[in-house]
Amino acid sequence: MKKHFLLSSISLVTILLSISCSMSKDSSANQKTCQQPTNIILMIGDGMSTPQVYAAMLTSENPTSFERFPFTGLAKTYSKSHKITDSAAGGTAIATGHKTNNGMIGMDSDSIPVPSVLEILSEKGMKTGVIATSYITHATPASFVAKNINRNNYEEIAMNFAKSNKVDLLIGGGRKHFNQRQDGVNLIEQMVSEGWNYYDTLINIKESDKTMILASEGHLPSYPSRGNFLPDATVLALEKLSGSENGFFLMIEGSQIDFAAHNCDSTYLVNELHDFDNTINKVLDFAEKDGNTLVIVTADHETGGLTMIDTNGRYTETFFKFSTGSHSPLMVPVFAFGPGSENFTGIMENTDIVKKIYQLLECNHN
Ligand SMILES: [Zn+2]
Repeated sequence: MKKHFLLSSISLVTILLSISCSMSKDSSANQKTCQQPTNIILMIGDGMSTPQVYAAMLTSENPTSFERFPFTGLAKTYSKSHKITDSAAGGTAIATGHKTNNGMIGMDSDSIPVPSVLEILSEKGMKTGVIATSYITHATPASFVAKNINRNNYEEIAMNFAKSNKVDLLIGGGRKHFNQRQDGVNLIEQMVSEGWNYYDTLINIKESDKTMILASEGHLPSYPSRGNFLPDATVLALEKLSGSENGFFLMIEGSQIDFAAHNCDSTYLVNELHDFDNTINKVLDFAEKDGNTLVIVTADHETGGLTMIDTNGRYTETFFKFSTGSHSPLMVPVFAFGPGSENFTGIMENTDIVKKIYQLLECNHN
C-alpha cells in the first residue's frame, strides 16, 4: 500500500514536472518569436520550387541541406502585372516587400523606387553583400541594389551598383556592364578611385571595407565548369562580413538553376541544385556555430514546370519532365533556420518574407 502511494506520488510529480516543463517551453517559444538575429542570410534559388528541391533530394546520396531546416513555409509568387512572375518582379518582391510589374527592378508598380532590405539594413549599420553566379546586374541581385524600370538596362543597373553607398561586397559575373559600356565609362576604374577593391578572381582578397569581385565578363560558367565558385565565394563573404560589429546582411543567389530549367536540361539542373545545396550547407554550418544568424532559403518562382514521373506508369522510375521552357506560377518553399525562424511557416506572400525580417529586427525595441 505504502509502495503504491509512493509510486503514485512519483507519477504525480512527474506529471507536474512535465506540465511546468511544457509551460516554460511555451513561454520560451513566445520569447523566441521576438529573438533578434544579428546576421541575416537570404538565399534565393532562382527558379527553385518544390519539384526542384525534390529533384535535388532524389539525386543526392546524402540528406540535402534542405532537411536541416527546422521551419518551412510556402510563398505565393504572382506579380502585380502577371499571374506568373519573372525574376525582376519576384526579386523585387523579396528584396523590397512590394509586388511590382514584371521586368521592373527595385520599384513599385507606379515606377516609384522603393528601398530594399539590403539598403535598409545598411542604414542600420549592418555590412551588406550580394553573391550571384550570373551577371551581378541580373534581375535578382539587381533587385537588392538597383532601381530601373527595365531589367535589361544592364549598364544603367551597373551604374546604380557603382553609385550605391549601401553595398559593401559584390561577387559575381557581368564585368562587361562595368568596363565595356556604350557610354565609354569604366565603372571599375571609377569605383577603385572611390575606394573599392576590385578583383577578377576569388583568390587574393585583402581585408577592406568595400570589395567587388567580377569573375567573368558575362555569366559565370555552369557548374561544375566554374568549380566551387559559389560555396567558396560564400565562405569568403562570411569571413569578411562576420567581422562586422553591427551584424551583416548577405544575399546569395543560385542563379543558374533557372537557366538550366529554361534549357529543359536536367543534368545542368541537377548540377546547379547540388552546387546550391552545398552552398546552403556551408551557410548552415556557419549559422549553427554562430547562433545569432537567421538563414532564409527561398525562390523567386518556379522554372520549367518540372515534374518527376514514371513514363511507364509503374511508379518505379523517376524521369524529369519539363512542361514549359518558361516560368510557372507554383508556390515556392521558404526554409528558415536560426533566431526567429519559427515565424516563416504557413502560406505567405513573397512580400511577407522581408516584412517578417523587419518585424524580427524591431522586436527587441518594443
Ligand atoms: Zn527565368
